[in-house]
Amino acid sequence: MKVGIVQQLSTKPLKRISPSRFVAMQQCALREVFAAAGNRPLLPVNPSARVGSIIHKLLQDVGSGAVVQDKESLNAAWSTLVSETEGQMKDSSTERFLVPLRANVSDLEVRRIRAIHRALSLKVFGSRVAGKETKAQKLPVGCEVWVQSTNGRVGGFIDVAFESSTGIVICDYKSGSIIDAGTGHNGTPKDEYVVQLKLYSALYFETFGFWPIGAELLPLVGEALKVVIEPENCVQILANANQLFNSVNARVAGCSAGHVDGLNELASPGSERCVHCLFRPGCPAYKRASRENGMESLPDVIGEVAFVNLQGNKRYQIGVSTVRGDVVVRQLSHGDGRHGAIEALQVGDTVGIFDVQFDSTRKSATETNRTTIYCLS
Ligand code: SF4
Repeated sequence: MKVGIVQQLSTKPLKRISPSRFVAMQQCALREVFAAAGNRPLLPVNPSARVGSIIHKLLQDVGSGAVVQDKESLNAAWSTLVSETEGQMKDSSTERFLVPLRANVSDLEVRRIRAIHRALSLKVFGSRVAGKETKAQKLPVGCEVWVQSTNGRVGGFIDVAFESSTGIVICDYKSGSIIDAGTGHNGTPKDEYVVQLKLYSALYFETFGFWPIGAELLPLVGEALKVVIEPENCVQILANANQLFNSVNARVAGCSAGHVDGLNELASPGSERCVHCLFRPGCPAYKRASRENGMESLPDVIGEVAFVNLQGNKRYQIGVSTVRGDVVVRQLSHGDGRHGAIEALQVGDTVGIFDVQFDSTRKSATETNRTTIYCLS
């Protein structure tokens, strides 16, 4: 078997849809099916997203009382989380070249300072696991409150549910921007986050029999943004999620029965979706779309190998014949084990060189810190 060749990704029926992935599943169900089936990502997670997960975990640990709310403890917790994350990255064949995070996330220190600042100002609610409930109503409050639909098909953890003077409010911590830049309105939250909170509200009702009075998005910097909860609308979103669960699983079952076209029905290839998808080297729909229309705005080079040269500076150069013309990818690392696929490549093989930096002509490209190469023949 050739080094760097993509194995067929497996598919399995979904066990559940998480509110945090519902909008993504509406955009491309195949990506979520690949993830739910336990396939390892074929491309490295963006190191900036890794830092986002560290920030989210730190805030959760502070909110639940697992980390003491003083600077010394928070700095120690941050260092531990970074070190654990880097340990996981070192175990990944695609991410080990992105360690340490400080060398690959230019604003890491700014984000650390902001995270600790936010953590110092956070209310500590305690853990739901510890069984914190209000005395008057016995409503479940605290951090990481599990909620699910009565049929179990939609479910997830709410970051925080707390009691205000008017009723229960649910809150989600966000490490990145919560504003929808496209609307032109400063205070409009991203639609996917609004849908997520509405879905959590419907699940809170199905789990405990009470509607939250409101919902909030808490960013790293600035005030929490409120989201209006209208039960009728939330119930409709939950019905949509149930419907999606049923239709996706019906198609996955069709694929298992040997109807490979079912996979195509699950896929929605498109530049804005595929660019964030870590399964695209193994996605048949993406491969086909790349061959048919070039997926021009994506940072990938897919086509037939025309030549492979090892330059005098010990860097590889690969010429690729693509649907949009010939492209030369330069300055590819050699000798550190990063691009094991290159040495096995032969002229005429189909190659995918993902996450490159194109020049303005898109005829020439260079390596980035996330460039990954696969033989797709
Ligand atoms: S590469 Fe695109 S079409 Fe394929 S699973 Fe990912 S998002 Fe969907």
